[in-house]
Amino acid sequence: MSSHAGLVSSLRAAWLSGKTRPVEYRLAQLEALGRFLDEKKEDILEATALDMGKPPFEVELSEISVCRSELNHRSELNHTLNHLGTWMKDEHVEKNWATQLDSAFIRKDPYGVVLIIAPWNYPINLLLVPLIGAIAAGNCVIMKPSEISRNVERLVAEALPRYLDKDCFAVVAAGVEETTRLLENKFDYIFFTGSPSVGRMVMAAAAKHLTPVTLELGGKNPCYVSDTCNVQNVARRVAWGRFFNAGQTCVAPDYVLCSVEMREKLLPALREAVTEFYGPNPRESPDFARIAGDKQFRRVQALLRCGRVVIGGQTDAETRYIAPTVLVDVQQDESVMQEEIFGPILPILTVASVEDAIAFINARERPLALYVFSSSKKVVNRVLERTSSGGFCANDTIMHITLPSLPFGGIGQSGLGCYHGRSSFETFSHRRSALLRGAGREALNAPRYPPYAPGRLPLLRAATETRRRATCALL
Ligand code: NAD
Repeated sequence: MSSHAGLVSSLRAAWLSGKTRPVEYRLAQLEALGRFLDEKKEDILEATALDMGKPPFEVELSEISVCRSELNHRSELNHTLNHLGTWMKDEHVEKNWATQLDSAFIRKDPYGVVLIIAPWNYPINLLLVPLIGAIAAGNCVIMKPSEISRNVERLVAEALPRYLDKDCFAVVAAGVEETTRLLENKFDYIFFTGSPSVGRMVMAAAAKHLTPVTLELGGKNPCYVSDTCNVQNVARRVAWGRFFNAGQTCVAPDYVLCSVEMREKLLPALREAVTEFYGPNPRESPDFARIAGDKQFRRVQALLRCGRVVIGGQTDAETRYIAPTVLVDVQQDESVMQEEIFGPILPILTVASVEDAIAFINARERPLALYVFSSSKKVVNRVLERTSSGGFCANDTIMHITLPSLPFGGIGQSGLGCYHGRSSFETFSHRRSALLRGAGREALNAPRYPPYAPGRLPLLRAATETRRRATCALL
């Protein structure tokens, strides 16, 4: 028997009862989620500090504020609370002649029982932001936090069910083996955030039941720095994006591409930015996080053997500290350029031109985020037009994901599907087509019934076909 089969079927029964459908129910659950975030804020700060030494400022910004903030009306929760009524409305569509007297619309239907699997790097954000969308869309949800961020896992498993309707929302604390068995159940939607390799396994498990999936995966995000830019600003924005959460961010700039001349200007500016942010010894800074676990620490530490360290490079296994580090002279076949870094290491590679940078990027898997720094709009647009990535941000890093109005998701190796704001609601809603016809006026239907009369064909065609609109101004 698959793990948690009883839980899945009791959630499905709750969903079939229709209790998650009214807008009032959804709003009440979302508000309860807001109360969890407010009342458990101190516990969240403590759990994330214990798990990976996350600075409270970073937790507020990237975990709590993103989900809910009284001040920030662009937060996921407030954005959803403000707009849910409009999003849920039936979308009436164009009709043909045959259906002129009928009602044709798209109903945003919940899928049913949804599974959300989250990673450890932003353990609150990446569990609760999808949850907001799933609740808003009227689903029942099983949440599976990461076992690696174990203090957050415990907090969420113990406290969150006290706020939400237990008939419809459950947290399953499970390691790899149990999650594998959990995935044997038939879900109506699976939303997974994690590595591409586990994403493949999740998709294979979903395929057995033809369950639709969203896969929010990782990869290597390029950051091209052109010769025309303000070097100090670039250094601060790149260093902030790379070293936030000690580099354990899926949209962090993974490596820099620039000319040799720019590299020589960027190195002192990066050194200055690191000192300005974290002081002369980042190990003593309260604003610099630690690596989440010993296994992750050993993997990131091994990457320091690639290329040549020019900034940082210090490590401490006991506290899982890896200094903000910049590497140069890295070879493309070295592991730091073969795998997602997911730690506080920034390799700088040199290219001869923007065209070279574009060719370098296009020769690799499509990234989750792509960054360009240039004061030339032409350069920015050239890279935007000639490359492909989940998201794109010019002259900054990470900031594009702070807008719930922009869909967030990958492409190719970096993922499938998207969410945030309205996109979350849409992701967890099935666009169900509905045509409500009148029961009478049978004479109007007569031409389509057998025995067929070929002479009626032009009439039927005219009644059901969509004609192309005239596009030529001369016609
Ligand atoms: P992971 O893939 O190892 O784990 C993610 C989740 O899957 C966890 O809950 C884990 O328990 C579960 N899991 C692990 N192995 C499993 C298996 N064999 N079968 C079923 N479930 C399994 O990822 P991680 O190490 O927690 O997170 C790091 C990765 O996540 C990086 O690649 C990063 O880029 C990516 N990520 C992506 C986003 C995004 O939004 N696109 C955000 C954060 C992290």
